[in-house]
Amino acid sequence: MPDWVRPLLGWYHQHRRCLPWREHPTPYRIWVSEIMLQQTQVATVQPYFERFVARFPTPAALAAADLHDVLKAWEGLGYYSRARHLHRAAKALAATHAGRMPTDLDGLRALPGIGPYTAAAIASIAYNLPHPVVDGNVARVGARLWCIATDTRTPRVQRDLEQRLQEAIDSSGDPAAFNQALMELGALVCRPRDPLCATCPLRTACGALATGRTAELPVRRPTVRVPHYRVAVGIIEDQGRVLIARRREEQMLGGLWEFPGGKLEPGEKPVETVLREVREELNLAVRVVSRACTIRHAYSHFRITLTAFHCVPEGDPASAHCDRPMAWVPWDRLADYPFPKANHKIFAALGRALPARASER
Ligand code: SF4
Repeated sequence: MPDWVRPLLGWYHQHRRCLPWREHPTPYRIWVSEIMLQQTQVATVQPYFERFVARFPTPAALAAADLHDVLKAWEGLGYYSRARHLHRAAKALAATHAGRMPTDLDGLRALPGIGPYTAAAIASIAYNLPHPVVDGNVARVGARLWCIATDTRTPRVQRDLEQRLQEAIDSSGDPAAFNQALMELGALVCRPRDPLCATCPLRTACGALATGRTAELPVRRPTVRVPHYRVAVGIIEDQGRVLIARRREEQMLGGLWEFPGGKLEPGEKPVETVLREVREELNLAVRVVSRACTIRHAYSHFRITLTAFHCVPEGDPASAHCDRPMAWVPWDRLADYPFPKANHKIFAALGRALPARASER
């Protein structure tokens, strides 16, 4: 056993955080937590996880749910394809595995939304199988421990890290604790900035500490500038109801609802965009009454500046139709629909924070 493994496990048993998915770590709860934790911080995930598993406590319950309700439970967590894949995978389990999770790596990887990392995480944490995982935290610890001066996100370095970790996890005697210990160490001690080396259980084995390179490892690629889009939407009201449309499944934020609108074309003013988009997409002529608000929002891969306008139909509101689901919804029922975060900023800017869902009142 490498000499740093035992101190790592000892540290983990003493310092690990009490997290909801670590209580009753069933394969299903581990699966849901691993999917939610992708690109998302632990503190953000905790309340979502607790609500989600309370609402959908088993794969069978998730499979039986409507996608609309699954997206509503995911609302605000972002990366909605994760929720759609989770739902599809639960349906696949119900159809082919009597609702039970597969117990091996290949069976897990065959499910929608489960890649090599997530399969290894579930297999090791839920079934104590010796499959190493390399997430951002583990890669940082590895890069410092072994002084790896190449970008840890490259496939070659990922494979190298997995090989080094395989030997350690095989000898650990507790793969579930080993993987969680490395992830926890990266989150709490071997932090991106100002690692707490003085209290680190790996300090006597750490190459970066020994050579004074903790600040320069892991090496990072320069960040890429994210694109910025200008968007305009219409809050089209008729007799106390608002017109919303559902985004296509294959789109980013697919399955969520939104106010109709779109990106500004070159030389176009926001108000012109609303009139054009609503006419093109919904076959509806509207009159813009006033500017409602402008909000800014940063998604993972782009930023938007969104201007919303109060509008009323010019012709017969019933003539509106489009090739994706749309609905006229009373303001006090909007909470029953999942919306992207940017739309919640619109509600807040209008002073119309959404009421609780009808089913939660
Ligand atoms: S000694 Fe410091 S740099 Fe090395 S693994 Fe521990 S916290 Fe990270």
